[in-house]
Amino acid sequence: MTEPDLTGTVSCRFCRSSDGELVLDAGLQPASDLFPLVTEPGPDPVHPLRMWLCGGCGLAQLIEDPTVPEEPRGKEPDAWIEQAKEAVADMAGAGLLAPGKVVFEYGSPHGGDWMDVLLERGLTPAASGQQADVIIDNIGMMHDADQAAALRERVDRLAPDGVLLFQFHSFRAIIEHGQWNALRHGHYAYYSTPALVTMLASVGLTPVTAFRYSLYGGTVLLAARRGGVPDEAVARIVEGEKAVGVLDPAAARTLQEACSATADELHRFVAAEKAAGRTTLGYSAASRSVALLNRAGIGPGLMSHIADAAEAKAGRRLPGSEIPIISPDELVAAKPDTVVLFVPDLLPEVRKAMPEIEANGGRWVVAEEMTGSAG
Ligand SMILES: [Zn+2]
Repeated sequence: MTEPDLTGTVSCRFCRSSDGELVLDAGLQPASDLFPLVTEPGPDPVHPLRMWLCGGCGLAQLIEDPTVPEEPRGKEPDAWIEQAKEAVADMAGAGLLAPGKVVFEYGSPHGGDWMDVLLERGLTPAASGQQADVIIDNIGMMHDADQAAALRERVDRLAPDGVLLFQFHSFRAIIEHGQWNALRHGHYAYYSTPALVTMLASVGLTPVTAFRYSLYGGTVLLAARRGGVPDEAVARIVEGEKAVGVLDPAAARTLQEACSATADELHRFVAAEKAAGRTTLGYSAASRSVALLNRAGIGPGLMSHIADAAEAKAGRRLPGSEIPIISPDELVAAKPDTVVLFVPDLLPEVRKAMPEIEANGGRWVVAEEMTGSAG
């Protein structure tokens, strides 16, 4: 593939620089948050899905997004709730969440709010428009097309001696685990800690501490304030991410290879299962399943159904691949030989919730772990 020259055509969503590189082209993809009714025929509209790495501030970002967000709210996975408790405990341990502090949360449209856990600890929710001692952005700001305006809004809302807690799925994890299908319309930014340090510095904030979690294969929680001094943890995480190449277009471009390899392997695997007379169904009609199945060219002929616990997705199908969505009960009743799981974090909870799958002789296979050795 010849790299198109994007010089002068892309402007960074944060620093407005046009100096940067295309690092991932996931091809033409449907809007991953629009699940048509099974009665609505395809083909669905598709749009370019591409990632650009800014050479100015280092922010990895979505180049273009002609889609309109319209996501049926999914079920909040147990893994997120556990993560919220752990993160809040860590931040309280670092002395950043004292009872009585006023808190405001910019949450994710996907759920997983921390507010309940914070109220249990005696923090007070901010009144409308009130400045807060603690501003939380929990996988929220990535949904803002204008990253500079979004960060400015958060900083304006922060009390003079307040702390901004910013949690994000790390670009390091995306590169390290080949998670090319984290890229999706509606998700405008893919943060690394070094890029965030630069972004925060431009609005007068300095990270003071940071924590890493295993959620999504690597999630970072950064605490930043005015006049802060970075601790050892911040320095360690920044160095670790730089070593993986979060600011290096060549390292980021390995996502392109991961994209082809995962899609090819998934297709090979599912086709081989079918040829061997084994039924393969999917689990989790998440945005990343949409891009992967579409890219792999897998439709209902190879994978008749994909299960999801979200009631909002009942009676609907995936865009692009047109695979109908069924409930977990229907998945169990179908007694599949193989269930391809598209969200690795869900493995412990789906095995626990649906022991019948394995009791009936079936097995779970994690899509993201397919690198040519599965099957
Ligand atoms: Zn930039």
